[in-house]
Amino acid sequence: VVMASENEAAVAAVPSDSPTIFDKIINKEIPSKVVYEDDKVLAFRDIDPQAPTHILIIPKVKDGLTGLSKAEERHCEILGRLLYTAKLVAKQEGLEDGFRIVINDGPNGGQSVFHIHVHLLGGRQMNWPPG
Ligand code: 5GP
Repeated sequence: VVMASENEAAVAAVPSDSPTIFDKIINKEIPSKVVYEDDKVLAFRDIDPQAPTHILIIPKVKDGLTGLSKAEERHCEILGRLLYTAKLVAKQEGLEDGFRIVINDGPNGGQSVFHIHVHLLGGRQMNWPPG
């Protein structure tokens, strides 16, 4: 299905716990521009960047965390690690003037991939309110 926009993809996306394209990225079955990796998390450049720096930070093991709205107490450690990794990558990317972290959730949030991910955006002035 060809989607006119990322927003259309988000509205059409059906939330599920099935494997997503991010599993293929984790397993290196499809290429991505990895900027940080350890045993728990992977950070790679978004294929459709919305800012000069646009990186996605994801857990290597989803453990039911399709989105933030599915978070349970057991996920607290990985949730913290995702944010901490965002900070490390922001520094690595030279975003000393600031950056923005986004977690889209569900249709209204514009989520299109159901494997939790933190967007790290920077390299330009971010606007408020967001779109
Ligand atoms: P969401 O809309 O769910 O918050 O964010 C999903 C993000 O994943 C989008 O910004 C989209 O551009 C990105 N994305 C989707 N497919 C791929 C892919 O195959 N590779 C990369 N690097 N990013 C992707």
